[in-house]
Amino acid sequence: MVSPREIVLLGSTGSVGTQALDVARAHPDRLRVVGLGAGGERPELLARQALELGVEVVAVSRAGAAQDLQLAFYAAAKERGYSAGQFAVPKILAGPDAAAELASWPCHTVLNAMTGSVGLAPTLAALEAGRTLALANKESLIAGGSLVTPYLEQIVPVDSEHSALAQCLRGGRADEVAKLVLTASGGPFRGRSRTQMADVTPEQARAHPTWDMGPVITINSATLVNKGLELIEAQLLFGVPYEAIEVVVHPQSVVHSMVEFVDGSTLAQASPPDMRLPIALALGWPDRLPGAAAPVDWSTASKWEFAPLDTAAFPAVGLCRQAGRRGGTAPAALNAANEVCVQAFVEGRLAFLAVVDTVAEVVEQHAFRERPTLVEVLDTEAWARARAAELIEGPS
Ligand code: MG
Repeated sequence: MVSPREIVLLGSTGSVGTQALDVARAHPDRLRVVGLGAGGERPELLARQALELGVEVVAVSRAGAAQDLQLAFYAAAKERGYSAGQFAVPKILAGPDAAAELASWPCHTVLNAMTGSVGLAPTLAALEAGRTLALANKESLIAGGSLVTPYLEQIVPVDSEHSALAQCLRGGRADEVAKLVLTASGGPFRGRSRTQMADVTPEQARAHPTWDMGPVITINSATLVNKGLELIEAQLLFGVPYEAIEVVVHPQSVVHSMVEFVDGSTLAQASPPDMRLPIALALGWPDRLPGAAAPVDWSTASKWEFAPLDTAAFPAVGLCRQAGRRGGTAPAALNAANEVCVQAFVEGRLAFLAVVDTVAEVVEQHAFRERPTLVEVLDTEAWARARAAELIEGPS
């Protein structure tokens, strides 16, 4: 009988975070959550999670959230009918560095399910502390680039496409791989031309056909920036050259990605869209946790379609490919600018098509550095955010 693997979860109140807790609850013999981190916007939920799991430590990145969290914790204890002495208040870390501090807390695996490039410092902290990193925060790999790649052996992907690739890559040697094929649902605007997307609203963009995800990634799926970021993520994780990574549209989101081998054989990983599968595999890696998600149902007729990407309607993948090839600070600038543009689109300050156009302009204009330090990456991001904001604002 092995003792359960100790897990620290960053981003526990988000979409991937709450699903990771479902996985942990279903496998108490295999996984034990010892620490939780979140932004601090939902202290009640975080407190309930912490109490239920009996974690040692909780981190909130909003400095003022520590007191809210403490109060929420006592409220949650009361809700569960606990009296004083029946529960222990976990250690509370608060402030902008709290997530990085939590990331180096003693444990086996850190799951980074934060949103955006604020995940970079915690990613580096977990890796430097020697932890296995289950990475759902693709932005930290993309922005961090060569700062993160020395630690690839410690990283297990959570993104469904990269989990699929990792699974398919078990089917052959590295020198037998001909091509990685990333699948894309195509998002809610699949089949539309650029002109037909000129007036789309944030509400329309939020209606993702197959996946239920957080707000930023949902918009990124509509612009296909998400697929572009995943292309960069795949190149960094698996070291396959850009010309050997293809994107194909697959609206059903059942085949999560594929690997083509030199003999013409293609291995695909298939399962109904459910993030609990890649999350469970990452937390249990290299072992599979039984019953993590429902398998494909072969008793009803179904159809899996594949089509090439319309690169004229969706220039984001090409833009990311270009930024990834350039390397250095280009992906960090791209991602930071995109975060600002997505926010502006959601708030109705920027048109849908202008999101990717503005991002392209910022990447083009930024002061490129080939091998940036962490400080230079953060400077690049700050500049890219400010420049994107200026371009959105327009000439005053
Ligand atoms: Mg994905």
